[in-house]
Amino acid sequence: MTPTKGYAAQGATTPLAPYTFERRDLRPHDVQLDILYCGVCHSDLHTARNEWHGTAYPCVPGHEIVGRVTKVGDHVTKFKVGDLAGIGCLVDSCQECHNCKQGLEQYCEEVATQTYNSPDRVDKSVTLGGYSNLIIAKDDFVLKVSEKLPLEGVAPLLCAGITTYSPMRHWKVGKGHKVGVLGLGGLGHMAVKLAVSFGAEVTMLSTSPSKEADAKRLGAHRFALTKDPEQLKGLGNYFDFIIDTVSAEHDYNMYLGMLNTNGVMICVGAPPTPAQVPAFNLIFQRRSIAGSLIGGLPETQEMLDYCAEHNIVSDVEVIAMKDVNESYERMLKGDVRYRFVIDMATL
Ligand code: NAP
Ligand code: ZN
Repeated sequence: MTPTKGYAAQGATTPLAPYTFERRDLRPHDVQLDILYCGVCHSDLHTARNEWHGTAYPCVPGHEIVGRVTKVGDHVTKFKVGDLAGIGCLVDSCQECHNCKQGLEQYCEEVATQTYNSPDRVDKSVTLGGYSNLIIAKDDFVLKVSEKLPLEGVAPLLCAGITTYSPMRHWKVGKGHKVGVLGLGGLGHMAVKLAVSFGAEVTMLSTSPSKEADAKRLGAHRFALTKDPEQLKGLGNYFDFIIDTVSAEHDYNMYLGMLNTNGVMICVGAPPTPAQVPAFNLIFQRRSIAGSLIGGLPETQEMLDYCAEHNIVSDVEVIAMKDVNESYERMLKGDVRYRFVIDMATL
């Protein structure tokens, strides 16, 4: 066992605080990383505060992990000590079901093992995430990271990047499509960058007037403040796709009305409260409402390689570990530009 330092929530209403624990001895297919950077995802907050229910405490969040390999198990050939590597939201799955066989491990029929708050498939202990100095995962779930890009900007690709890349690839978003991105936070800003890089016309739909200049800098072709009816004029039946990244309760119907015939609203944001959608808002214009969960391992590697080739990283505010609770409060206010990333050297 290896003593490990991290930050954990001990309950739904307690702030994250220093926590020491032990990581397992390496299994033959395990890779151990010293964590350099870990992004702060809104899912970390939902889980730490038990907003989705089912959180096991102590909870060490963090699933946007970039680090350097410090040890490998006897059967590992893909990595060697010193390599850069990444770990996203998954650390294991059955690897045998129909979905796993297709590289859709996120939809594993036996339920994939998440990087935190999931039972380990071997010893049943609860997984603990990337707000820590080191982590161990099975080699098939560890990604290759290019030396080319700034690592603090790469970390958020492991969740915010793949979560927006995967549905856009699935629905073949590209040239000729009008895409609305709802919510300019961690996922939203990656959706803008990626949709623009795929050739789509992108409109940022935001509640924050202060983000207009940034949205344009990120590549959005237009910006609409969703609280101002004047700015929504002309957006009825407009979009082919809306990527909804909103983390809190909101009215889906207002945005469904912005979809053109056959338009798809892709929900990646996961508010704890259910949506209310009258069938009429889908029947007219044959609209769909869909969801998408992160991405599988092959597609996550493809996305990392694509971002390295196209020079795409997350816009980050690097923080010290001790400031993680404050970053949660700022995230709740929409005050994130556009991902907090913890510098693990500060732990
Ligand atoms: P984030 O950085 O906090 O961004 C969310 C953005 O939503 C905010 O910046 C804000 O943008 C907007 N927003 C917040 N409250 C709102 C409200 N009441 N009404 C309208 N807009 C609001 O969060 P994130 O890390 O991007 O995560 C977003 C959501 O995706 C979370 O629920 C997270 O759990 C979920 N998620 C899902 C997956 C998946 O696999 N599907 C993966 C990762 C995360 P504006 O200021 O521009 O309005
Ligand atoms: Zn995430």
